[in-house]
Amino acid sequence: MSNQPSAAASARAFVPANRVRGFGTTVFAEFSAMALQYNAVNLGQGFPNFPAPDFIKRAAQEAIEADLNQYARGAGQIRLVNALAETYGPLFGRELDPLQEIVITTGATEGIFATMQGLVNPGDEVILIEPFYDSYSPSVIMAGGTPVYVPLRATEGTRRASEWWLDMDELAAAFSPRTRLLVLNTPMNPIGKIFSRTELAQIAALVQQHDVLVLSDEVYEWMVYPEPDGAPVEHVRLATLPGMWERTLTLGSAGKTFSVTGWKIGWAIGPAPLVHAVLMAHQWIPFTVATPLQEAVATALEQAPKEDYYQWLATTYQAKRDKLLVALEDVGLTPVRPDGSYFVLVATGHLPVPVPEGTRRDVAVARWFTTNVGVTAIPPSPFYSPDHQYLTDNLARFCFCKTDEMLDEAARRFRAKLG
Ligand code: PMP
Ligand code: GLN
Repeated sequence: MSNQPSAAASARAFVPANRVRGFGTTVFAEFSAMALQYNAVNLGQGFPNFPAPDFIKRAAQEAIEADLNQYARGAGQIRLVNALAETYGPLFGRELDPLQEIVITTGATEGIFATMQGLVNPGDEVILIEPFYDSYSPSVIMAGGTPVYVPLRATEGTRRASEWWLDMDELAAAFSPRTRLLVLNTPMNPIGKIFSRTELAQIAALVQQHDVLVLSDEVYEWMVYPEPDGAPVEHVRLATLPGMWERTLTLGSAGKTFSVTGWKIGWAIGPAPLVHAVLMAHQWIPFTVATPLQEAVATALEQAPKEDYYQWLATTYQAKRDKLLVALEDVGLTPVRPDGSYFVLVATGHLPVPVPEGTRRDVAVARWFTTNVGVTAIPPSPFYSPDHQYLTDNLARFCFCKTDEMLDEAARRFRAKLG
């Protein structure tokens, strides 16, 4: 008998496991590759292309120089969890226990995955508010859970992210005896909406009524912009509402806060039993997270208030947002003004873009922006469940976490092709 596997066995061997078989390539991989191919200005995938602050880069170099090269503590380097407890204690209005109420994750993406693995049983339902960061639903599905989708609503032509609303009756109807968790994202990718205190209180009431947990993804917590008249817009942390600390895990990301998305350092903060559940999953996913980079993020958190860094970040991003809004408006595109995050949705219904059979319109438009305008956008439909993807037919997402030179070049290309 031959030792070679038969052809039939090989064909079977290459079939992916059921839990991943339905997944395609992420929209970010597709559009970043396309931007490269067409030499387009990539305002698609959200990652800063400007340098990270000197204080965090120096700290990483020093940590490697000091040979902090071995496995970190599973739940996170002591110095980092201490720095997070110092930073977030006042923001949550409570003293945080760095050893039991914080776990360091491989970016917020792993925080989402480990939360689902640690807290969702097969058959449990998880409410996702659409549009949502695209990793939410695969994370629920890989835990054996069932996503239940509730789309935000907006009237045609809305020009402000804050005018997208959550229909509370629709949300109430999404709860069932099997609901385990609700995922909230504020400030929200891709709309740039910041949930108001009133909206959060209504969500909190439903969550408490149904005895459900919340994963509050607040990775854009520092990218919050005032009203046009200068009135402040408040980012309210869901966990600070009455009765919500006990049932909320809050996620943060050094990638967003310190412009180091490739470092993949994130954190989950919450009551000890929930953090413990996440840790139980986390210990079998990455086991621990990059030691010298954790040390560098600890230093950055220690330095940030002294450097007035968070205020600088918000002001810098506000100027970039306004630059992109002007560039879009100049050529007759209708942006939805975000109050937070580094994304802008744009109405595209008037653009004469041919839509090939079997392609979603927003995908065709996003490809057209790359190939015909030389500026890459992301189609928002992957941020929706299939039943609701039609809601994004006339929308594209651009990001503004880019150098002014790059935003200016995008503006030139918009003017040349659309002006
Ligand atoms: N949540 C949201 C809403 C995001 O936009 C992102 C950005 N990719 C993440 C989580 C993931 O963050 P990280 O890069 O830290 O994994
Ligand atoms: N959060 C970023 C975005 O939405 C990047 C996500 C990713 O590349 N996975 O653009």
